[in-house]
Amino acid sequence: MFGLIGHLTSLAHAQAVARDLGYEEYADQGLEFWCMAPPQIVDDITVTSITGQTIQGKYVESCFLPEMLAAKKFKAATRKIVNAMVHAQKNGIDITALGGFSSIIFETFNLAQIRQVRNIQLEIERFTTGNTHTAYIICRQIEEATRKFGIDLSKSTVAVCGATGDIGSAVCRWLDKRSDVQDLILVARNQERLQDLQAQLGRGKIMDIDSALPLADVVVWVASMAKGMEIDPSVLKRPCVLIDGGYPKNMATMIQQPDVHVINGGIVEHSLDIDWKIMKIVNMSAPARQLFACFAESMLLEFEGWHTNFSWGRNQITVENMEKIGLVSIKHGFRPLIA
Ligand code: NDP
Repeated sequence: MFGLIGHLTSLAHAQAVARDLGYEEYADQGLEFWCMAPPQIVDDITVTSITGQTIQGKYVESCFLPEMLAAKKFKAATRKIVNAMVHAQKNGIDITALGGFSSIIFETFNLAQIRQVRNIQLEIERFTTGNTHTAYIICRQIEEATRKFGIDLSKSTVAVCGATGDIGSAVCRWLDKRSDVQDLILVARNQERLQDLQAQLGRGKIMDIDSALPLADVVVWVASMAKGMEIDPSVLKRPCVLIDGGYPKNMATMIQQPDVHVINGGIVEHSLDIDWKIMKIVNMSAPARQLFACFAESMLLEFEGWHTNFSWGRNQITVENMEKIGLVSIKHGFRPLIA
């Protein structure tokens, strides 16, 4: 059985969802209440591959909210993730994806050192960040969207916002090795990590986001921002492709302008309907078929019987593993969303 550990994007979102699901006692509560709330299994899932194989899974709501980080409630945030992992393990789930901020909190607060939680010995190999599949899907979105919108990657500049992160650095490695990209722009805040990445790649210009936007034919947004940033669309190149893979989204601005193509980053579409309710809750436009690529990774590991932490640690994703998960993604009927 596979599992998905997820969270909602804000307190307002969580309150609205609680009301929709009939958890009235959660709907009017503030952040303190969510800090105390235990993890819940709120969805049972059945997925069928185009090979005909069927698997079962569960969605575990961790009750983490990005506002907990903004309010410096780090203890509550880490407790949410550890408790959700324990809950998944106790429910017999073999392989569980740590969606969105779950893996970021796990890495940032070095939760790998916590092995014993009450009477449960955490079995780390039952969890995957899902970031290898996410990075692979974002790279395929770059390649397919540029082809669709007439942008020649070999003459293009791609800016990666969040370049030094787990997903961002994997995207940079793929773009360097597999796609014939002319220029790479590396955007993040910590200069030392940017310089290390630049040295590893042997290329890439380090810039801040304001300098990068007017130069980029493609912008990949994979920064771990608790809240999206406003951008001024008038500075963007035309045509350009913006791939927002953040959860919550990195771009707060809704852009609807000719020749500016905004793609929902890190999202896959399955070839067959999935029996679940959870993607409706996170406002996917086709909730029976669209999902986060990290969640799809745990489904792929279950389909293949690879009950192992395929994506683990930070900045260790290889192009070879992206290709490997990519092959099984295609085999089971997932494709990158280009909308
Ligand atoms: P990491 O924590 O590994 O990396 C985050 C990156 O963002 C770092 O390079 C960090 O560098 C940078 N960053 C953070 N804040 C800012 C900022 N204000 N401006 C510029 N750069 C910034 O995160 P992941 O790679 O694991 O995840 C990245 C995003 O992808 C998150 O939003 C996550 O929720 C989302 N995600 C989406 C998935 C999907 O299936 N679609 C799956 C998993 C994650 P620095 O701190 O130096 O600025």
